Amino acid sequence: MVVWCQTMTQQIDRNAIVKRATELLRGGATMLAEACPLCNSPLFKLPSGEVVCPIHGRVMLVKTEEEVSEANVLSTLTELEKSITNKLNMYVNKLKSSEAEFEDARNVIAWLDALERIEKIKRLLSKTKQLETPQTSTRKTSKK
Ligand SMILES: [Zn+2]
Repeated sequence: MVVWCQTMTQQIDRNAIVKRATELLRGGATMLAEACPLCNSPLFKLPSGEVVCPIHGRVMLVKTEEEVSEANVLSTLTELEKSITNKLNMYVNKLKSSEAEFEDARNVIAWLDALERIEKIKRLLSKTKQLETPQTSTRKTSKK
């Protein structure tokens, strides 16, 4: 099984791992055999079924190459979204000032367009994911 971590750039602090792991276990999480590929700390499965790294947070357990590339696409899109939002914030300031030009408005529209496309692609990806991956829920024995 390949493990893919969502956040690729984060400092790793051993103390933080231990502290977070303790918190996770207290919260009813179970330790998994898989380790995070980035910080090598054990992964935990939350009662909700979500898999998390104590440091990097939510981690996606992927089984196929296709899922790995899909996860990479999602991460790239998220990064893009963040950058575009920063860019748009810059325009907010510029538009408030008197030096705003028509060109700025065109740029804002272009960036918003890009954001919209990103959202669309993300939605498409999550849709196919819901169809393909069966829900892994913790089974409880029900009384009759
Ligand atoms: Zn990690």
